[in-house]
Amino acid sequence: MRAEIITTHVECDICRKSEDNGFAIAKMSVAVLEIGHFDEYGNFHRSYNGNIGIKRLDLCSTCATTALDRVVKSKSQMFTPDVYYSFKDVGEGEK
Ligand SMILES: [Zn+2]
Repeated sequence: MRAEIITTHVECDICRKSEDNGFAIAKMSVAVLEIGHFDEYGNFHRSYNGNIGIKRLDLCSTCATTALDRVVKSKSQMFTPDVYYSFKDVGEGEK
């Protein structure tokens, strides 16, 4: 039987605040809209038929409150399992 990996380092999936720094992080079911993906060159490809779904995210209290009001957007990256969560839409103050 395989041992479960116990995660002791928990951080907010959206703003990356860490429990290690004293922020309370809680699992929450929130609405997440897939808005597109980054290709291997880091270019973003907007998806206009993305699905909205309910995901269990680790959120700090600030993001948990914001999530009641705004839909979380998710962006995936090709060739990696990484998914980025944000309240920002594309072109809305993106880095
Ligand atoms: Zn947060």
